[in-house]
Amino acid sequence: MNIKIGLIGAGMIGSDHAFRINDSLKGGIVKAINDINKENAKRLSKELGSAKVFEDPHELINSPEINAVLVCSTGPTHEEFVLASIAAGKYVFCEKPLATSAIACKKIIEAEMKFGKRLVQVGFMRRYDSGYQKLKKAIDDYKIGDVLIMHCVHRNSSVPESYVTEMAVSDSLVHELDAVRWLLKEDYVSAQMILAKKTKYSHEKLHDPQILLLETESGVRIDIEFFHNCQYGYDIQCEVVGSDGIARLPEPESLVIRKNAKKFTKIDPDWKNRFIDAYDIELQEFLDGVSTGNIKGPSSWDGYTAAMASDVCIKAQKSGAIESFSIMQTPEFYK
Ligand code: NAP
Repeated sequence: MNIKIGLIGAGMIGSDHAFRINDSLKGGIVKAINDINKENAKRLSKELGSAKVFEDPHELINSPEINAVLVCSTGPTHEEFVLASIAAGKYVFCEKPLATSAIACKKIIEAEMKFGKRLVQVGFMRRYDSGYQKLKKAIDDYKIGDVLIMHCVHRNSSVPESYVTEMAVSDSLVHELDAVRWLLKEDYVSAQMILAKKTKYSHEKLHDPQILLLETESGVRIDIEFFHNCQYGYDIQCEVVGSDGIARLPEPESLVIRKNAKKFTKIDPDWKNRFIDAYDIELQEFLDGVSTGNIKGPSSWDGYTAAMASDVCIKAQKSGAIESFSIMQTPEFYK
């Protein structure tokens, strides 16, 4: 039987996920759509042909026609819709961020724990990327010994005027904050943000590029360069330096061309293509989790720790100082 999905947020990623569920994945169908932008909801409903438009998001969440909710609206709306889904006892896939502050994420954790069972999966899709999985296996299998240092890079060709300095952390860096913690199975203890010399291609409200320095509980040091006007393409890199060797995130597969005394490969400018397989796998895992009653993907706790880390990094961005993290014990419920 197909899981009947209600989608809130029929914008860019919501539309992509809806087509994924209906056309590529197994076991789900989008049956309901809500968007504050009615034109977006109507357009997607027409294109999909399987879903009716709900004017009220809460009516969608509580509708008996829906088994699970997909929250793909803008970040500040996530808390309300995830809490309402939990209150209705419905499984919910929430795009990152789980909520825009650690306090809001904590409310979700408390509600989910009170409900007594995991209902929430957060859209940290890098965990499903085959390259990241290989890197994790090399670390877990102790192939490079003790991890000592990580060098990470997150570059976009360009970003719109609406993209401001804080968003570099809350919108983009949050992926690294989750992926690195997942790779190392360790929480962070401190963060320092360094504003590098500003590129001439950035606008007034975005300081670009920036460098984040993190330290984990066991003393691993991580540097992350994030550069949102790099001009040349979307580029994610990660190198792990161990006591016995080095492991690097594989480059995406790309044809090598030799021509006019040059050898070159293409770098995709679009982030959507870089993680396209990972999006499919994460949503398939969600559908499978709903049908078996066992949600395994990134949890509310992961969403909470990423939001905490994001809050500390934004504080470090403003202060220029080394900022500390509070110690957190993972509740049994999320282990
Ligand atoms: P988007 O294109 O702006 O789409 C969001 C949609 O939600 C818009 O149609 C928006 O309407 C609507 N919306 C806003 N407030 C709402 C409300 N209260 N109720 C119902 N709908 C509402 O944004 P997007 O790029 O798809 O991003 C959506 C979410 O996915 C964000 O949290 C983003 O961080 C996340 N995301 C994740 C990834 C990833 O790699 N995992 C990639 C992209 C995006 P208006 O246009 O009228 O505001």
